[in-house]
Amino acid sequence: MVNALVLAEAGIAVTVLERNAQLVEDLRASTFHPPTLDLLERFPGLVGELKSEGLIARYTQQRDRRSGLVAEFDMDLLRNDTGHPYRLQCEQWKLSRRLHARLIQHPHARVIFNASVQSLEQDDQRVTLRYEHAGETRREQADYLIGADGAWSAVRQSVGVEFEGFTYPERFLIVSTDFEYADHLEHLSYVNYVSDPQEWCVLLRVPTLWRVLFPTRVDETDESVMTDEAIQTRMQGLLPREEPYRIVHRTLYKVHQRIAQKFRLGRVLLTGDAAHINNPLGGMGMNGGVQDAFNVSDKLIDVLLRNADPSLLDRYERQRRTVAIEYVNADTQRNKKLIEERDPEVRKRAQDELRAIAADPAAARRYLRKTSMIDALERAASIA
Ligand SMILES: Cc1cc2nc3c(=O)[nH]c(=O)nc-3n(C[C@H](O)[C@H](O)[C@H](O)COP(=O)(O)OP(=O)(O)OC[C@H]3O[C@@H](n4cnc5c(N)ncnc54)[C@H](O)[C@@H]3O)c2cc1C
Repeated sequence: MVNALVLAEAGIAVTVLERNAQLVEDLRASTFHPPTLDLLERFPGLVGELKSEGLIARYTQQRDRRSGLVAEFDMDLLRNDTGHPYRLQCEQWKLSRRLHARLIQHPHARVIFNASVQSLEQDDQRVTLRYEHAGETRREQADYLIGADGAWSAVRQSVGVEFEGFTYPERFLIVSTDFEYADHLEHLSYVNYVSDPQEWCVLLRVPTLWRVLFPTRVDETDESVMTDEAIQTRMQGLLPREEPYRIVHRTLYKVHQRIAQKFRLGRVLLTGDAAHINNPLGGMGMNGGVQDAFNVSDKLIDVLLRNADPSLLDRYERQRRTVAIEYVNADTQRNKKLIEERDPEVRKRAQDELRAIAADPAAARRYLRKTSMIDALERAASIA
């Protein structure tokens, strides 16, 4: 949707093919990092609309499940680095909905639902795509194709690009509840990473709910994790109370660290989860995808409208694949290692280090530039 709107706004005819019958309102990403909001400012009024439907999280916390707050970071330290020195806690589907509303009004955009891409071919001139729509096979031709079709990308598979990496043995459970944790856990912020050697968790606030992310144990089956009883046991284990928790959503999913071997194959480009997937610790998946979209779409505009050489598109791969490896993949793996660390000495050292960083404004700013993906975007821009 971001790719499509950047291109349409530049006057390029764009067609979005979406397999689902409509936009899905599932609970996936819920954090917008500062530089993603800076980029989205390109669409007039959009960030204001998201802010009106979200929560401004000025502080993020690292906590210990047993002893409470370890370190709190004030994102206002980034006020000279970004126009948005905070995280915006707002569900991803609200962004999709807003972008879709703009696209369907746009004279250069078409959005076709129930359109499941099956295969593609390309030559020097164009890409030809086959997709299923209402029981028929249809064909669509384009100068370029952006595969933004998620982790199982049919586009990536059609061009035979390897998705290198691994899948974690445990799954991740997200439980949403309307219980107000802030009334019971002292000094809680809207974004809290809670480490524990037995069962870490992440507590994230969105406007009407708290979302709690837990890892499952490797020996648990999906069915046993998802029963009411097992979910209540997990929630009561985190914060015991007399009544059961009211559970509004529950989602269990597999988590991977994978990066496509190529982000460009001729006239086919991969963005978002089709190009890279990672664990959610740090909230970098959707943010990375939005950042890819601005990068590649701007280059396509140069190629299509300003006669830039198509080799410019290789720079997209150099910039965004490098960042996916050096920052998003590395940082999210480091975050997971930190939050689940079992060695008491290593845990203590890591927590002392976090306390020291939070107490020193210059060090805290450096830390926040990294965790907010500002360094990653600057690194990408520096790659020729
Ligand atoms: C539980 C959970 C929590 C997360 N939390 C965060 C977070 O806090 N912060 C963050 O940044 N990221 C987070 N993420 C990751 C984030 O949701 C993804 O990185 C993001 O959705 C990727 O966007 P995308 O558009 O690339 O892919 P998707 O969102 O997967 O969208 C791909 C689209 O392509 C469509 N499609 C697929 N195949 C075809 C086909 N053959 N033909 C036509 N259409 C097709 C799909 O229906 C879908 O609409 C989370 C993910 C999960 C699952």
